[in-house]
Amino acid sequence: MTPAIEVRGLSFRYHDGKEALRDVSFSVQEGECVGLIGPNGAGKSTLLRHLNGLLPEQAGPGSAVSVFGRLVTRENLDEVHRRVGFLFQDPDDQLFCPTVFEDVAFGPRQFGLDAAGLDAVVAEALGLVGLEGFADRAPHHLSDGEKQRVCLAGVLACKPDMLVLDEPTSDLDPRGRRALVVLLESLPVTKVIASHDLELILRLAPRALLLDGGRLVADGHTRTLLGNEELMLARGLEKPHGLLHVHPHGG
Ligand code: ADP
Repeated sequence: MTPAIEVRGLSFRYHDGKEALRDVSFSVQEGECVGLIGPNGAGKSTLLRHLNGLLPEQAGPGSAVSVFGRLVTRENLDEVHRRVGFLFQDPDDQLFCPTVFEDVAFGPRQFGLDAAGLDAVVAEALGLVGLEGFADRAPHHLSDGEKQRVCLAGVLACKPDMLVLDEPTSDLDPRGRRALVVLLESLPVTKVIASHDLELILRLAPRALLLDGGRLVADGHTRTLLGNEELMLARGLEKPHGLLHVHPHGG
C-alpha cells in the first residue's frame, strides 16, 4: 500500500544557514497515528511544515517528501493542502478573518463549497470542537484555548485525509485537552502530532519519532521509547508519569 507519508533523506537549512533537519527518513502508513517528540529546537515544526509543503523547493539535494504517493512540489501544493489539514503551533498564524465563521469557512470556501454547504460544515466543525454559538465572535477577542479550537475547526471543516498537528494542547485547559483527545481518537484519519505533552502522545500514538538536533534518533513503539528513561533524559525529555512503572526496555 502506498504510504500516507514518505520522507526520504530530508535535510533543510533556514536562510540564515541554521541547519534544522539532517537526512531524516521515515514513512507513515494510512490510518497510523504517529507522535513527534524532541526537545526545543529539535526540528519538529520544521519537519511538519515540510509535510504541508510550506517549504518544498528549499530542501537540500536528494530530499524527497511524498504525501499519499504524490511528491510534494510547488505544482502539487493545492492537492497536498486539500488532503493534509495542518494545525500551526501559534493560532495567530492561522486566524485572520473578522469572525470565527469566516475563519472556519475559509478552507472549504477555497475548495469551492457553496453558501449552504459552508453553513453546514462550519456548524459541524464548531460542534466537534465544542464551540457552538461562537460563529459571530471575533477570533482576536478569544482566549488562547478558544483560538486553538477555532483553528482545529477550520482544519476539520476541510475534511482532510491527514491531520498534522503542532502542539495541539499547548493552550488548552484540562477539559479542552480531554475533549481534544476524545475527538482525535474518534477521527480515523492519518495523524502526526508533535507535542511536549508526552501523556497525550502516549494516549494517542502507538508509534513515536524522536528528533534531536535535526536528526531522527529513534522511531519505534511509543511505550518502549518513552519508557526508556536513559534515552529520554539524554534527549532533554522525561519519562511520562503514565510509564513510571514500566521497565526501561519493556514493550
Ligand atoms: P522544534 O519545533 O523542535 O522546537 P523547530 O523546527 O522550530 O524546532 O526549529 C529547528 C531549528 O531551526 C532551531 O534551531 C530553530 O532555532 C531553527 N529555526 C526555526 N525556524 C527558523 C527560522 N525561520 N529561521 C532560522 N532558524 C529557524
